[in-house]
Amino acid sequence: MYDIIIIGSGAGGATMAYALADSGKKILIVERGGYVPVEKENWDSTEVFQKDRYTTTDLWLDKHGKEFRPGMHYNVGGNTKFYGAALFRLREEDFKEIRHYGGTSPAWPIGYEDLKDHYLEAEKLFYVHGKRGSDPTEPYDSEPYPYEALPHEPRIQEIFDELKQYGLKPFELPIGVNFTPHPFINAPYTLDRFDGFPDAAERKGDAHLCSLSKALEHPNVELMINTKVLKLVTDEDGKRISEIIVEKDGETQTLKAGYVVLSAGAINSAALLLQSRSEKFPDGLANSSDQVGRNYMFHQNSALVALYTEPNYTKFGKTFGINDFYHAARGYEFPLGHIQMLGKSDEHQIKADSPVPAPGFTFELMAKHAVDFWLTSEDLPDPENRVTVEENGQIRISYTPNNTEGHKLLKEELIKALKASGKFDSFFFKGIYFSKGMDIGSPAHQNGTTRMGTDPRTSVVDPYCKAHDLDNLYIVDGGFFVSSGAVNPALTIIAMALRVGKHIKNNVLAS
Ligand SMILES: Cc1cc2nc3c(=O)[nH]c(=O)nc-3n(C[C@H](O)[C@H](O)[C@H](O)COP(=O)(O)OP(=O)(O)OC[C@H]3O[C@@H](n4cnc5c(N)ncnc54)[C@H](O)[C@@H]3O)c2cc1C
Repeated sequence: MYDIIIIGSGAGGATMAYALADSGKKILIVERGGYVPVEKENWDSTEVFQKDRYTTTDLWLDKHGKEFRPGMHYNVGGNTKFYGAALFRLREEDFKEIRHYGGTSPAWPIGYEDLKDHYLEAEKLFYVHGKRGSDPTEPYDSEPYPYEALPHEPRIQEIFDELKQYGLKPFELPIGVNFTPHPFINAPYTLDRFDGFPDAAERKGDAHLCSLSKALEHPNVELMINTKVLKLVTDEDGKRISEIIVEKDGETQTLKAGYVVLSAGAINSAALLLQSRSEKFPDGLANSSDQVGRNYMFHQNSALVALYTEPNYTKFGKTFGINDFYHAARGYEFPLGHIQMLGKSDEHQIKADSPVPAPGFTFELMAKHAVDFWLTSEDLPDPENRVTVEENGQIRISYTPNNTEGHKLLKEELIKALKASGKFDSFFFKGIYFSKGMDIGSPAHQNGTTRMGTDPRTSVVDPYCKAHDLDNLYIVDGGFFVSSGAVNPALTIIAMALRVGKHIKNNVLAS
């Protein structure tokens, strides 16, 4: 019997473990995956992007019943082992109602002030490098980022300067990376393969290194890997989770805990609750509102590769962002979204995404000149965009894109800025660019499926992420988002875990 069982060791679960570790309570983290192996393939783009070496082989269904393999990573540290560690706070306005081209983004039951201090703590915990005040939309904080912004490599600095001259306000991207000297290895660390790759040097500010490893220093905290939670069972009253049914090494086991924190990621947490249906709860657990799995969001995301005449020898290009179009501004009635640099693409990545075959040297040439951008716009919560579970346990994602107009305009603004600002629209390459929108197979920014609210009829968890329907269940992962904002979600999940962890420690366990 444990005091607390945490399901999942990603951004939410690992940080919950960190926040609760010094309570002295007996804590178990149950993770369905194992450790990501440290091997040379970690930095091999063919292995990572073409052969999908580290993604699940599970197949899900789309709304038409067509199978696809989702870009999900089941391992210690969850998806943060592969993320780009661009660690943003939501903007103050994101917690309020906002009108968009595609409809209304609803207000949260909490405000930015409720997360402010936890954001700062999260930035410290995850080694965030940034320049406070450089992003015109970033909420104010009197404390600087814990670490100085990463320098732009020369080619990126040129583009940064060109965009500034054009009239935009590019800013230093907040990135989580740990440069503190290693106790035995004195060699310097060069940032290179990062965004989408696991980091063989273990320097990325991920949930495994920043939160979980610190939690596991406490003797009262245990980690059980390669253990998949299959079902949650309630007591007779139906008010508490009494048993957690898991599968480990092909065998089924039952675990018990006083409190359960579900942090399996927005899609898998919803799926597990739905899968835990019983005679008493035929629609699944924590689902009296019928909201579990609904309002699935994962942003309108696109990668855009611009081919300049100048070669781009950058190793690590992910050092600036553009938020000039985040709010309704510059002549637009509604928000368009956010732009950031992507990790520098190579010929294998460009080949993997090419719609047409071509000789290898073509991709090499393109990669040599490529400058990579990532565009994110808000998608809106729609109850019909949802996660469901088939009778056989297979996950189905029914999703129809919304609010696409803003994303289209954002892309046009970026192209306009690149063409007007420098040497992009040149004689040789003539302003060639490629862009690819992310579809449901890329659920990196998944959120919204167990939305937060004060009304148990319209939401799944309360403002401290406790399930309205159950006295001992907290759900702390991307699921609690009420709206998605248009910045990357992980820092908000980490900050929320710190907030909820403190609340459980100080108010729930103490009483
Ligand atoms: C390639 C990539 C790049 C990204 N870049 C960024 C970025 O730059 N910035 C940013 O903010 N975000 C980024 N993200 C998104 C970010 O990684 C996620 O928002 C974040 O990891 C979500 O945290 P989570 O706790 O909700 O879920 P996860 O981190 O996915 O953790 C869930 C954990 O639960 C485990 N689990 C699932 N089901 C079960 C089960 N039944 N039993 C036991 N364990 C289970 C999983 O194995 C996993 O370890 C990126 C994601 C990807 C894939």
